[in-house]
Amino acid sequence: MKRLGFFGGTFDPVHIAHLRLALELKAYCQLDEMRLLPAHIPPHKGVPSATPSQRLAMLQLAIQHCPELSLDTRELLRDCPSYSVETLAQLRAELGPQVSISLAVGGDSLANLHTWHRWRELFQYAHLIVAVRPGYQRPQSGPVAELLADSEVEVGQLHQVSHGGVVVAELSQLAVSATAIREQIASGYSAQFLLPDPVWHYIQQHRLYQQAGADQ
Ligand code: ATP
Repeated sequence: MKRLGFFGGTFDPVHIAHLRLALELKAYCQLDEMRLLPAHIPPHKGVPSATPSQRLAMLQLAIQHCPELSLDTRELLRDCPSYSVETLAQLRAELGPQVSISLAVGGDSLANLHTWHRWRELFQYAHLIVAVRPGYQRPQSGPVAELLADSEVEVGQLHQVSHGGVVVAELSQLAVSATAIREQIASGYSAQFLLPDPVWHYIQQHRLYQQAGADQ
């Protein structure tokens, strides 16, 4: 069975922690392909955000020499934000039942998974891969604890079926965040080496993130 992974995020901007995590998850979960899935960001969000086409350009620059990663722009190029469950339903309809589909998210997303729109339905279409830091404390009660009790599988079993499993991947993660990068740039500091060089040059050339966000 073919194994596809989708790594969702805002990528505003994409940075080395995203790229390392995507590569490491691809290897850890033995995926045939790992596709970065940038989200649409509503323009009223109070942070200095690059436009969808700028985020896309940065992602393209970031992975131009990385054949192991690719891009899926279906959410980014839509006119409105889309729910993960709808994107996964669409992917499942396109790819058919004989493909293992996994959605990868950071550990911070696991804690509030039960607040996602129609979150239980995600598992009708895909597996969930959650990247957590070593030493991560599992929730002991509540909907996410119940989900793990019912659906967690070892990574070696994940692709025996096409959807419905949860893998918790303990991987060390780089201490880099897009918020910190935007703040650094707005304060006049360099963000070089936190992102691939072509992405850093693009940010400078287009004077991105130079204004502090409304929430700062
Ligand atoms: P922001 O600071 O704006 O929230 P971010 O980089 O944390 O940005 P996203 O661009 O949405 O957030 O990240 C995409 C995915 O990458 C998310 O699942 C997030 O959990 C994960 N991620 C972000 N930063 C790291 C990091 N340093 N290490 C591992 N995973 C990360």
